Amino acid sequence: MGLRAFLSRRVVTPEGLRPAAVLVEDEKIRAVVTPAEVPSAATLEDFGGLALLPGLVDSHVHINEPGRAEWEGFRSATEAAAAGGYTMLVDMPLNCIPATTNVSALEAKRNAAQGQCRIDWGAWGGVVPGNHEDILPLAQAGVLGYKCFLVPSGIEEFRMVTEQDLRAALPYVARTRLPLLVHAELPEFLGGFNMRDDDWSQYSTHLRSRPAEAEVAAIRLMLLLCRDYGFRLHIVHLATGLALEMLQSARAAGLAVTVETCPHYLHLEAEQIADRATQYKCAPPIRSHPNREHLWQGLKDGVIEIIVTDHSPCPEFMKQPGEGNFRDAWGGIASLSVALPVIWTEAKQRGFDLTDIARWMSERPAQLAGCHARKGRIAGGYDADFVVFDSDAEFTVTSDRLCQRHPISPYIGETLRGVVKRTYLRGGIVFQDGQFSGSPTGREFRQ
Ligand SMILES: [Zn+2]
Repeated sequence: MGLRAFLSRRVVTPEGLRPAAVLVEDEKIRAVVTPAEVPSAATLEDFGGLALLPGLVDSHVHINEPGRAEWEGFRSATEAAAAGGYTMLVDMPLNCIPATTNVSALEAKRNAAQGQCRIDWGAWGGVVPGNHEDILPLAQAGVLGYKCFLVPSGIEEFRMVTEQDLRAALPYVARTRLPLLVHAELPEFLGGFNMRDDDWSQYSTHLRSRPAEAEVAAIRLMLLLCRDYGFRLHIVHLATGLALEMLQSARAAGLAVTVETCPHYLHLEAEQIADRATQYKCAPPIRSHPNREHLWQGLKDGVIEIIVTDHSPCPEFMKQPGEGNFRDAWGGIASLSVALPVIWTEAKQRGFDLTDIARWMSERPAQLAGCHARKGRIAGGYDADFVVFDSDAEFTVTSDRLCQRHPISPYIGETLRGVVKRTYLRGGIVFQDGQFSGSPTGREFRQ
């Protein structure tokens, strides 16, 4: 295709927001130069005042294929992602069947993904009771790291691990030098049997059943194990601000621990959630307004460095819209196509800028997934992955914009700031003004 120059007055580079020309050759960024330095042979694409961000990276997505493609799938998940400005996602080892807990399951996933992906992707492997013999082979086969649950996952094929299970698995995990992503809640703090007769149509019942203490105690346990085994620990979807201080001191003491949170914890608040509104159900739950502000403080202080969607859709009947029962409804919020405007709407009000967005939603997740030599930055040598973003435009979320298989979302009806105009994957347009272009060109990134 020859040399191209992508011009914008607002290119988001690791050095900050500035007018620049990004020189692209084939699939790669060759260099970032000033507009005056563009070689005369280059074909120009001038985006004017629209911002040019690195393609977003989501390291926490449930694609559910193979096995539960009726919930979501490679095609619909990567289309929702491309529409949201993402160019790379990493798939969780559940809720697909088989769960990605050994190499043959990983191969089944690769077969399912073949020819379906609009953007690049990678796979996390699972750590479940008794599969420690599979940990090293999974790394050799190319997973980017591992995921485990300290509470029941809601999926029978993916069992939770106890401290004892972890002590069997962690020496292997440590040897791979890949991260272990942990769903950090402890079961003994969850309201279960004893809350059977409570009114589960109320959001407050769901909230009470999964208290912040469950997260805090689980994180405390994982930090101890991190000290004992020296593996890379990553806390997924932190929902409580109460663990931030402990995480900050662990980091200050030199432990390799990273933390993510999600758009729903940063934008929504328990006080605003109506009874029976099970589209808001996720675990851990969306907590109070003051807690939400505490999480923003965690981002400001740098304790939380990653924002990912935890995109976890399901068919409508599983959310039980009729009954609105928070105990039985599926827990999961899908937001790939709207996460960027959700976060930008909140971040702008708090004085953050697009460089913060690029760090939280692209650079740091790419580091976690180990693809940071190719993804996560607009810089020479990186993949030519971009989002063209109109950061001032507003739009109202409607179900047809979601692009996921089942258009269920707590964001429907909300007016948000920032519109994804175009998404480029390795130099090619994959999404433009509401349309996907060409056939899927996404590839798997392997470690
Ligand atoms: Zn998840």
